[in-house]
Amino acid sequence: MVRTQLQRARAGETTPAMKRVAERENRDPEFVREQVAEGQAVIPANRVHSALDPMVIGREFATKVNANIGNSEETSDPREELRKLHTAVHYGADTVMDLSTGEDLDAIREANVARSPVPIGTVPIYEAVKRAGEPAAITRELLLEVIEKQARQGVDYMTIHAGVLMEHLPLTDGRKTGIVSRGGSILAQWMEENAMQNPLYTEFEAICRMFAEHDVTFSLGDGLRPGCLADASDEAQFAELDTLGELTRTAWDHGVQVMVEGPGHVPMDEIAANVERQREVCDGAPFYVLGPLVTDVAPGYDHVTSAIGATEAGRAGAAMLCYVTPKEHLGLPEEADVREGLAAYRIAAHAADVANDLPGARDWDDALSEARYEFDWRRQFDLALDPERARESHDQSLPGDNYKEARFCSMCGAEFCSMRIDQDARAVDGEMTAIDGGTDLDSSRAGDANLPPTGSHDTSRVPDEIEIDGVRFTPVSSADD
Ligand code: SF4
Repeated sequence: MVRTQLQRARAGETTPAMKRVAERENRDPEFVREQVAEGQAVIPANRVHSALDPMVIGREFATKVNANIGNSEETSDPREELRKLHTAVHYGADTVMDLSTGEDLDAIREANVARSPVPIGTVPIYEAVKRAGEPAAITRELLLEVIEKQARQGVDYMTIHAGVLMEHLPLTDGRKTGIVSRGGSILAQWMEENAMQNPLYTEFEAICRMFAEHDVTFSLGDGLRPGCLADASDEAQFAELDTLGELTRTAWDHGVQVMVEGPGHVPMDEIAANVERQREVCDGAPFYVLGPLVTDVAPGYDHVTSAIGATEAGRAGAAMLCYVTPKEHLGLPEEADVREGLAAYRIAAHAADVANDLPGARDWDDALSEARYEFDWRRQFDLALDPERARESHDQSLPGDNYKEARFCSMCGAEFCSMRIDQDARAVDGEMTAIDGGTDLDSSRAGDANLPPTGSHDTSRVPDEIEIDGVRFTPVSSADD
């Protein structure tokens, strides 16, 4: 019988996936094994996902970022979805969720798994609704069939909204925005119309057995997450969280890895308490948060409003941040939105890692700062979180090659460049001495997980181009913005 990463870790085995994760994070493989064995970290790795480069999600490791892609009723093209997958990985997504609800669901999912070096997540209730025609028509058999099929197809983790119970629904009555999770609203309608308990809850152990067989990781969905600041931290949200804690322990009893999803929209001053509460209730299972948005007033900029909350959530201990794009609440993201959302979230994740003193995280900042002070423009671009964006911005005003050697840029100009003036002052035989940087990234503790995804380091997993059915694709560029 195939055993899960959790079962193997508990048995004392350091699997190849754990060794690879240790290499990427620059940590001791035994530490990785212990974290997985204790349920404090997960390695989502379906045993048939052969293209996967294993990664880890846990509060002791680099904060990870998820990007959602997927089609809708209005748009459906498997090749377009592969382009989005490629763009997401190129700009640094650590995992990708395929939230497709349109046509060709199987073809899209299978193509994604076959080509993705990062874990693929899904929300199987979406396919169940599609096949049933409407939420109330979903049957237990159909739900289990869909989940099992997706597990066989190689999906690494699935959002299962098993914590939304009938008794929780009245607790949402006084909210401003009701139930905003798609999965939560579908299940609420199912329970109301069928007058029965959530089938994902009643069938949870059957799902655990399927997940154990394929080593699929639970992402326990927060179907009652707040959809606005006014609804944050309310009774409905925390009642569901208590159930998610119970389900976490049930999944662990079956040897299945678990992470738990979190809000949503939360005022800044409540975020740390939310993270701490999840940690206590769910015994330290990794927390995977959507944002949260810290204000509701900026549609069009919700990659910013949510990245602010995500930074605080990461600092407080959230292990993975689900990105939000500028299109949140407004429309289906295009590739350019994926790039903007990922940049915002890579920044949030790294800022949290620096604040949490993750081994080696600050070395990246120090190396870039030294390149900046030394006017080593090419190295500064290479080290940038989005090298292409940094290069393009510099080229807009000073495109010539000679300006890549210049001791100024167009922001302050040659005469007023403070770093040039500082260097000249230090060259005078006076009180100040020359500054000599010394960060050597090659010998630092910063592993793959702490370095820019498209920088000058190991970019083997983010090729500049991919070929799909004879057509070559490149990630979105500024020309497409
Ligand atoms: S001109 Fe100003 S912004 Fe540009 S390198 Fe000098 S100090 Fe920095």
